[in-house]
Amino acid sequence: MLPKYHLILGIIFSLILYLFQINLFYCFIFLLSSIFIDFDHYLFYFIRKKDLNLRRAYIWHKSLGTHHKPIMQIFHTLEFLLLISVLAFFSNLFLFIFFGMLFHSLTDIIEMIHNKNLYTREFSFINYLRRRKKYL
Ligand SMILES: [Zn+2]
Repeated sequence: MLPKYHLILGIIFSLILYLFQINLFYCFIFLLSSIFIDFDHYLFYFIRKKDLNLRRAYIWHKSLGTHHKPIMQIFHTLEFLLLISVLAFFSNLFLFIFFGMLFHSLTDIIEMIHNKNLYTREFSFINYLRRRKKYL
């Protein structure tokens, strides 16, 4: 999903959380984590292309289209979400980071189901390590 849609959905859901008496700071943490989980796209681009230019990274990702070989994006994996969920037991900060990342992941998955391209993402880091050569 494009960053602008994550931003719009994140703002809407943060406001809903605020209406349910959730502390403004945690609403903001939710919003930030629901957007910046996509930093791994940039990380992936940097590792592949050895280029730090954010604009070129964005253009490169868009040029892949909606149907391509699977990509492993570390923050979007079940293992990373699991790690954050464990930390959430010890801190409300991580709880809202977890909610933001989960919200983001769910919106990504809904869009991928709609586009029939769930296969374009590896959801497991362990799976990625086992089948490395099949990825973009
Ligand atoms: Zn995403």
